[in-house]
Amino acid sequence: MKRALNFNAGPAALPEAVLAKAEKEMMNYLGCGMGVMELSHRSNEFEEINERTKNLLRGLLNIPDDYEILFLQGGASLQFSMVPMNLLEEGSAASYVLTGTWSEKALKEAQKIGKAVTAASSKHDNYRSIPSTSEIDIQAESSYLHITTNNTIYGTQWHSFPEGLPNPLVADMSSDILSRPLKLSSFGLIYAGAQKNLGPSGVTVVIIQKDLLKRSEPGLPSMLNYQVHAESKSLYNTPPTLSIYFLMLVLEWAEALGGVKQLELMSKHKSALLYDAIDRSDGFYTGHAEKESRSRMNITFTLENDDLTTAFLYEAEESGFTGLGGHRSVGGCRASIYNAVPLENVEKLADFMNSFRSRN
Ligand code: PMP
Repeated sequence: MKRALNFNAGPAALPEAVLAKAEKEMMNYLGCGMGVMELSHRSNEFEEINERTKNLLRGLLNIPDDYEILFLQGGASLQFSMVPMNLLEEGSAASYVLTGTWSEKALKEAQKIGKAVTAASSKHDNYRSIPSTSEIDIQAESSYLHITTNNTIYGTQWHSFPEGLPNPLVADMSSDILSRPLKLSSFGLIYAGAQKNLGPSGVTVVIIQKDLLKRSEPGLPSMLNYQVHAESKSLYNTPPTLSIYFLMLVLEWAEALGGVKQLELMSKHKSALLYDAIDRSDGFYTGHAEKESRSRMNITFTLENDDLTTAFLYEAEESGFTGLGGHRSVGGCRASIYNAVPLENVEKLADFMNSFRSRN
């Protein structure tokens, strides 16, 4: 079977081994005579999937016991609202670092809930960079500081995180979770929609310091209350069982590969191939991000003019590459090279970029 050279930004490529295993278990999961999506979410089989998935994630990211792991719905976008609903304290403000479209959206949603302000921003340089810690201005009465660790659209990434701040750090890791080891104690809450590095869409992972659960007021709608989901082990209502099962398979795959350290090495290698093709092109390709802020997940670049960009994308599509168009808000090109994108596909793309340049 011919598989696409998939560089989609999300939903994105999944490991072939995961798809093959899911296919094998589709009709009959572990001999129970039905597929995972036919199981009751209260069955032993599904409860095991739920627990195993949590434990795998805990192991891979070295998540301490004083953090709760939740599997929720509504995408990362619902977290833009749930975070302030649960964590923004009476009489205080929330601080946001703006590094792109998604952090702007997160701030905008928070402002519908309460007071939320910009603590730093790289908007002035069209989001080519990540502000330094010294630029972050947190107000004295702030409830938390929100960052977006990888900016899927602009192709920038935080390579070190603010430390020793007076606020819990809340991080949208939708597009780079599981791509490197983390020091969990630096974070109060991490959230990520699964559809890039973790699995298919439909499930959102939230990792929250247990102390912060105390901030969730009982008056919140139950579905929007972290404490309610924590108490019911993410089984308050019917969870997205199939997505969680896929998440489990992806985490098993990641563990078998050697865990996040290995995934980090792989993403350094893959991203270097594409950044080299850009840097050695004598200006034929221009990277959007400043070098020190470059993302290892989303490689964004432009060509000299629109005609050349259109020709590049057309020829790429003809050669079997998918998903290379930049986000509609910035244009140009973007190659998303999440964990499941095989090295050989990235090598093929680097070769294609080099040959397109020689031909044009
Ligand atoms: N944050 C980031 C960094 C993203 O890349 C995306 C989606 N591309 C979102 C949030 C929104 O995610 P969702 O579609 O799951 O709501």
